[in-house]
Amino acid sequence: MSAIAVIPVRGGLLPLGADEAVAEAGGVALVVGDGTDEAATALAAATSLLLAEAGDFAPAAWAVALRPHIAAAAVVVLPASPDGRDLAPRLAYELDRPLLAGALSVDEHRAVLVRRGGLVVEEHDVAGPVVATLLPGVRGFEPVATEPRRARLDLEPPPGADAEVLDVTPPDPATMDLAEARRIVAGGAGLGGPEPFELLARVAPALGASFGASRVAADVGWAPQDRFIGTTGVVVDPDLYIALGISGAVQHVTGLGQPDHVIAVNTDASAPMMAMADLAIVADAPAVLVALADRLGVAHTASSGDPRSEVSA
Ligand SMILES: Cc1cc2nc3c(=O)[nH]c(=O)nc-3n(C[C@H](O)[C@H](O)[C@H](O)COP(=O)(O)OP(=O)(O)OC[C@H]3O[C@@H](n4cnc5c(N)ncnc54)[C@H](O)[C@@H]3O)c2cc1C
Repeated sequence: MSAIAVIPVRGGLLPLGADEAVAEAGGVALVVGDGTDEAATALAAATSLLLAEAGDFAPAAWAVALRPHIAAAAVVVLPASPDGRDLAPRLAYELDRPLLAGALSVDEHRAVLVRRGGLVVEEHDVAGPVVATLLPGVRGFEPVATEPRRARLDLEPPPGADAEVLDVTPPDPATMDLAEARRIVAGGAGLGGPEPFELLARVAPALGASFGASRVAADVGWAPQDRFIGTTGVVVDPDLYIALGISGAVQHVTGLGQPDHVIAVNTDASAPMMAMADLAIVADAPAVLVALADRLGVAHTASSGDPRSEVSA
């Protein structure tokens, strides 16, 4: 076994980038967590599966328990999802290997890593066994037509290795990691100024959505830097993506994942974002936003500062 993907799951749900990590490991995966059967059924890139039902996320204990089962693999790949990024360094420590974080590709000879927010791509020779996290939304994968082989693994995570979880609260769409958001409403230069972005930050949660932006909008300060989507920003994979006044530049759309539904509002019917939309609306985006706010009963009043303070206030 030269490579294996370790996929941490919660409540039967796969993390962002799971299939890509499995494909990078040649189809071999160890699925660990709560609801592994259900999660494994949703994996499309696997040829061989080990399922380890291990309850709630406990990265320190899992790392200890997983070590003997993955030590033979020269490359251990995890998706660079929040849980993958949490578990990977603990596995690297337990296996006494280097961690290659934020890879575009990795095998036992060579790794390509993204550095400095996407501005630098480094190539490294891989001299020995490694643990790596693979950036979601970049590699893609081919679904495997045949049913994967399945086997169960009994793990015995040591007690007391992790912090005690007292409560898990549902994420607030206004502040949650965009990478995990199921619905996103994003604005671009076509929104025309900071006030529409303040309104966007109030309208999005009324739709049960997180708000995002293009890099142009974040660079001029209309939206926080951690809210811009794209290859050099956050890589997302929502079910629904609504783009208001966004042209659809390649650096933006390559960070979009594969949304089930895309709605675009743009004055230019031939903008690339309109071409990839299921519903393309030729209209003035700020006016559409105001109409949407009216329909949802969201106040127009704008105030200065970080748009997120509007939402949490
Ligand atoms: C190395 C590099 C990395 C980059 N990384 C990223 C990245 O990660 N993410 C990213 O987003 N960009 C990135 N960019 C920038 C990217 O190339 C585009 O410039 C950017 O995505 C464009 O943002 P935009 O669509 O908001 O603006 P524009 O391209 O200016 O488009 C504005 C759109 O709004 C429409 N519009 C104008 N007025 C209205 C109106 N009243 N109502 C409705 N529509 C209207 C226009 O027709 C147009 O389609 C990167 C660029 C480089 C060089």
